[in-house]
Amino acid sequence: MHTTLHDTLVSAIRNIPDYPKPGIMFRDITTLLGNARAFRRAIDELVHPYAGAKIDKIAGIEARGFILGGAIAHQMSAGFIPIRKKGKLPHETVRVAYSLEYGLDEMEMHKDAVAPGEKVILVDDLIATGGTAEGAAKLLRQMGAEIVAACFVIDLPELGGRAKLEALGVPVRTLVAFEGH
Ligand code: AMP
Repeated sequence: MHTTLHDTLVSAIRNIPDYPKPGIMFRDITTLLGNARAFRRAIDELVHPYAGAKIDKIAGIEARGFILGGAIAHQMSAGFIPIRKKGKLPHETVRVAYSLEYGLDEMEMHKDAVAPGEKVILVDDLIATGGTAEGAAKLLRQMGAEIVAACFVIDLPELGGRAKLEALGVPVRTLVAFEGH
C-alpha cells in the first residue's frame, strides 16, 4: 500500500505525554531521525520549494535544528549558521532574549555568520508559540539577512507560532500539524 508523506512522518514521530512537564505532549523527532526513509523524505520535502532559489545559508536553531539544518544545507549547497544558547559561541556574537513555551532564555549568533542581503532559510524541528523562531529571525535580520522562509517539520497551530512569524513577514513551511500543546 502507498503511504503518504504525512503518514510516514506522523508515524515516525514519537509522542511522550507530560514531558518535560505535565500537560505538554512532547513530539520526539529522534525516532524520525533514526528512520532513514522518514528522515530523507522530511528533508526532501522541506527543501523542495526552494530548488533554484539560490539560498546562501541555512540557519539552524540548537539543537534539533542543527541536525535538520545541516542536512538541508548540504542538499541545497548552502552554508550553515548555528544559532545557539548563550555562552556557547566562541567569537563576537549578537544576542537576543526570547520566550519559550516553557521558560525564558537568550540565544546568540556569530556577528560575521551572515552578510547583509544574504538569503537565509531558518530551520527548527517544531514551531509552538514561535518565540524561539522569532528570536532567531530578529538576530538574522539585525545582521541584514533576507529571510526567505522558516521551515519546521512540526506545527502546533493552536499555539500561534506560524501566525506570529507570518505577521513579521516571514513565510512559514511546515510538514505536519498536531492539535494541542
Ligand atoms: P516555541 O518557541 O514556543 O515555538 O517552541 C519551539 C521550541 O521548543 C523548539 O525548539 C522545539 O523543539 C521546542 N518545543 C516546544 N514545544 C514542544 C513540544 N511539544 N514537543 C517538542 N518540542 C517542543
